[in-house]
Amino acid sequence: MSPAVLTGRCLCGAITLTITPPTDFVSHCHCASCRVAHAAPFVTWTSVPEQRFTMTGEPHLFESSAGVHRGFCGRCGTQVLYRADATPGRVYVPVGILDGIDRAADSHVSYEERAGWIEGLERLPCFAGKSQRTLAW
Ligand SMILES: [Zn+2]
Ligand SMILES: [Zn+2]
Repeated sequence: MSPAVLTGRCLCGAITLTITPPTDFVSHCHCASCRVAHAAPFVTWTSVPEQRFTMTGEPHLFESSAGVHRGFCGRCGTQVLYRADATPGRVYVPVGILDGIDRAADSHVSYEERAGWIEGLERLPCFAGKSQRTLAW
């Protein structure tokens, strides 16, 4: 069952937002712009119509490519959304800033731009916390 409302926030809490489900999709974006803007191997996105989105706080905006406006917190730097001129009336939100989501991821996009250094993630050993290894240097 879908939650009544999804909530999200930036790291410092200056920006908070709500989304009323259902979301449109959940997709992992591997494009270079997302990778650099978020300093992460890929970014998982969802979207909703603006009418089912609320936000407190005012993100700074950066046009990362023609017609794509990324919003981030001016205090802590968290990326909180993007809007695209090509899809008016729709807001895109990174799932990582939400407390939950109403669906499983359904796709990878811009997969041809993926970072080669994430290959084999599922084969790496996993540790609780940062690491249980003795530092070697
Ligand atoms: Zn913040
Ligand atoms: Zn992207």
